[in-house]
Amino acid sequence: MIPFNKPHLTGKETHYIYDAVKTGKLSGNGKYTKLCQTFFENKFGFKKCLLTTSCTDALEMAAILIDIQKGDEVIMPSYTFVSTANAFVLRGAKIVFADSKKDHPNIDENKIESLITDKTKAIVPVHYAGVACNMDKIMAIANKYNLFVIEDAAQAIDSYYINSKGEKKVLGSIGHLSAFSFHETKNIISGEGGMLVINDESYLDRAEIIWEKGTNRSAFFRGDVDKYGWVDVGSSFLPSEIISAFLYAQLEHLDDIQNRRKHIWKIYKTELEEWSKQNKVKLPVVPKSSTNNAHMFYLVCNSLNDRSKLIKSLKEQNVLSVFHYLSLHKSPFYAKHYQGDELINCDLFANQLVRLPLYYDLTDEQLNTIIESIKQITL
Ligand SMILES: *Cc1c(COP(=O)(O)O)cnc(C)c1O
Repeated sequence: MIPFNKPHLTGKETHYIYDAVKTGKLSGNGKYTKLCQTFFENKFGFKKCLLTTSCTDALEMAAILIDIQKGDEVIMPSYTFVSTANAFVLRGAKIVFADSKKDHPNIDENKIESLITDKTKAIVPVHYAGVACNMDKIMAIANKYNLFVIEDAAQAIDSYYINSKGEKKVLGSIGHLSAFSFHETKNIISGEGGMLVINDESYLDRAEIIWEKGTNRSAFFRGDVDKYGWVDVGSSFLPSEIISAFLYAQLEHLDDIQNRRKHIWKIYKTELEEWSKQNKVKLPVVPKSSTNNAHMFYLVCNSLNDRSKLIKSLKEQNVLSVFHYLSLHKSPFYAKHYQGDELINCDLFANQLVRLPLYYDLTDEQLNTIIESIKQITL
């Protein structure tokens, strides 16, 4: 069976973990945490990075940082992972779901403005498959109504938005705050792991405090204050050095990992062009306004029936393919609160999108087997 995902090890993970263990500093914010944060700040020009134990945690930190209160409204796509919404629900927010674009699961930037009320506090664009949302439009709306923008960049490491003037900005650097994931299904991994990026400098000090359980411990260890204590709300958001050490080994191979993934993505795209046309299947689109970080290769079938048939036929040929999100506005948890419009495009992706295996260790031979297996299938 060709699995859907296989975590890639670059080789130095256990070496750095051993080093962390040997130095006797196992809790967070030590040598490897700092190495990782500095790596991201230098490579991508992020103002400040704080490693977290997950993207979920980074989103929860963001909700605390922008001071979400009961009754505040937060606009986001319905076609996303539960954590995008949960982080704000935990603080009492009402989630206002917007539809996806017709040709891409990303939030439709033209559907946002009509959802804004005097309770709206933030917009949370999700860069699905590492493809940039229309950030110029989203930031313009946010500026007009004085809203926060928090990028859910869980899938978007090393991907860029290209605006109409041709300027290139790395995803995660555009909103006030952004959240990345290093879950084992993402491009760069640490098992569980994540990162909050702070682009708006006025949130730097408070972000560190929330990260350190509501204390000014970070400032104390830098020598900025002479004692530390409880100064705000917070939680335990820091990963241990063992996780950071693992992540650091991955970062040293970022370019190699990305190149291999892009290679696989391109072969899928080229080889499936003909078959997709014959079977009314759509291949993923990467608009001119985005680069491709090859986080995911997906197909959009013509119906739920076609998708079920494709998944089943591939399984019979020992290839695991999987569908993705179910519409959050129709979820057992949220459906009873949802009063908005039908979200046609979101439901379409929930019913018709299927993801193919894409990971560093997928061999050319396996890739070929998957492609040939797909070509055997008539939908
Ligand atoms: C993976 C993912 C998350 C959650 O990341 P964790 O690190 O597992 O908490 C959130 N949002 C999106 C869009 C994701 O793909």
